[in-house]
Amino acid sequence: MHKTTTCGELRARDAGRTVTLMGWVNRRRSHGGLIFIDLRDRWGVTQIVFNPSVSSEAMAVAEEVRPEYVIAVEGVVEVRPPGMVNPNLATGEIELVAKSAQVLNPAKTPPFPINEPAEVDEYLRLKYRYLDLRRDFMLRNLELRHRAVRFIREWFSDRDFLEIETPILTKETPGGAREFVVPSRIHPGSFYALPQSPQQYKQLLMVAGIERYFQIARCFRDEDLRADRGLEFTQLDLEMSFVDQEDILNITEGCLTDLVDNVGGKKLLFRPFPRLTYAEAMDRFGTDKPDLRFGVEIQNMTDLAGGTDFRVFNAVLESGGQVKAIVAPGCASYSRREIEDLTRIATGAGAKGMVPLALLPHGFHSPLTRFFSDTRLQEICDRLGARPGDLVLIVADAPDVVATALGEVRLEIGRRLGLMDPNVLAFAWITHVPAFEWNAERNAWQAKHHQFTSLIDEDLPYLESEPGRVRAKQYDVVCNGYELGGGSIRIHRRELQERVFRVIGMTDAEANEKFGHLLEAFEFGTPPHGGIAVGIDRLTMLLAGQDSIREMIAFPKTQSATEPMTGAPTPLSPAELAIIHLAVTSHE
Ligand code: ASP
Repeated sequence: MHKTTTCGELRARDAGRTVTLMGWVNRRRSHGGLIFIDLRDRWGVTQIVFNPSVSSEAMAVAEEVRPEYVIAVEGVVEVRPPGMVNPNLATGEIELVAKSAQVLNPAKTPPFPINEPAEVDEYLRLKYRYLDLRRDFMLRNLELRHRAVRFIREWFSDRDFLEIETPILTKETPGGAREFVVPSRIHPGSFYALPQSPQQYKQLLMVAGIERYFQIARCFRDEDLRADRGLEFTQLDLEMSFVDQEDILNITEGCLTDLVDNVGGKKLLFRPFPRLTYAEAMDRFGTDKPDLRFGVEIQNMTDLAGGTDFRVFNAVLESGGQVKAIVAPGCASYSRREIEDLTRIATGAGAKGMVPLALLPHGFHSPLTRFFSDTRLQEICDRLGARPGDLVLIVADAPDVVATALGEVRLEIGRRLGLMDPNVLAFAWITHVPAFEWNAERNAWQAKHHQFTSLIDEDLPYLESEPGRVRAKQYDVVCNGYELGGGSIRIHRRELQERVFRVIGMTDAEANEKFGHLLEAFEFGTPPHGGIAVGIDRLTMLLAGQDSIREMIAFPKTQSATEPMTGAPTPLSPAELAIIHLAVTSHE
């Protein structure tokens, strides 16, 4: 027998045709001396009727099969009698009357149901991932990801970008994420590193004159895993020459806009994407990856917080801190318990506390009423736009603590009030990001994005004297509270690159040893260039409306960095270790 037809394509117009279907038994039921089997493949489900008066042999096969058996059935397409049509099934107008059937392979009972939605423990899903991927929603996720990647490939190819593969075995790059290393058998004691991104190669492709490069690139980072980050991930990586920030933003935004309009069922909230400086994002949303699907912005009331006996505010004001607030609309009636829950979020983010101010019909309800006059409280509410029925939540602390605490409380309010529309994608750009951040562990400055990022010209005079003040020609694209990607205009002159290396604590000798190839390349006519990388796992996760990137990856690792299906990672035997010149000195 040969599969002539998929399980998703037969319609009433096919009545009378003899076809052969092959697939998995999705469901089997007996009814009035007949057996009905729903046969499933990637394309759909078709109902097959086994009737002993048509074929007793086929009937015998039908009696033996169980869910997930792989079978082949030859039969005749018949239109279902009126009243038996199943409008929920694409093939619901017809059924296949079996003339002959064959079991191609039996199946054990699967560890979880495949033919109906079920909550299944994630470890079990990953251990039997090949069964998990048979489930409808996982197949849809894989399909969506395929369509998204195909769309992106064509979009950039149509605009004269070349997709160029860069190596997976590369040289270790200090200063970024922790890298995976691969021992060289041929060069004892030496190691390749897996790329955390194709950053240096794509810059070298610009030196090579490619001008428009992209790649659907695999990247590797030996970091602790979270729901939105994996050990290995895929990004749309691109780089262009003779461009400024505006060009990269426009081309990326163009692709993302067209992608959302064409793939997946989500709607764009903003066209064009709003742009916020890093400082603005921190100020208004307390994070550099704001969820802009809703307001509830953080507002400043520092200037209205002083002049009373309220010691909490006074102490913060004296030490140069801030007093800021958000307004939770309609939440004035929150119970003490609910307010405590919110306060715990703020303290978990480092704040010493949070002060509530409820606008009840008969007046204010707040610990502040003991210290602040009603007039002042009204002034605060007017400033914040708080109305009767609202709950004001105030945090007083150092600016970064206020930002993180209120940023998290804002998200929780958004969740509680259902303000995050799951059908909407709110993309935005974050620009003017600080170039460097202080690494207390290393006691040195480090690049916030990466050390190849160019700097905003007017900040250059402070590069050596006040690195913390220097902003980068860097931009991040965020969506619904996730950082989706980021990029920058690059340094393309040796002299500035060397200055940056020095700021981040590298000696000239170290810089030469690690990045000599790049520095030398910059001496052979390097065009000004810049680019960006956008995470495909996260992007498709948002397009599919999923909460974890693992739903978008065929074979992901668990959060503890293992693969339950194969058991990776696994130890090597001493003999295998000897071949690659390694000895393991300790096991946990
Ligand atoms: N290589 C950077 C990253 O992976 C992106 C870029 O600067 O283009 O984050």
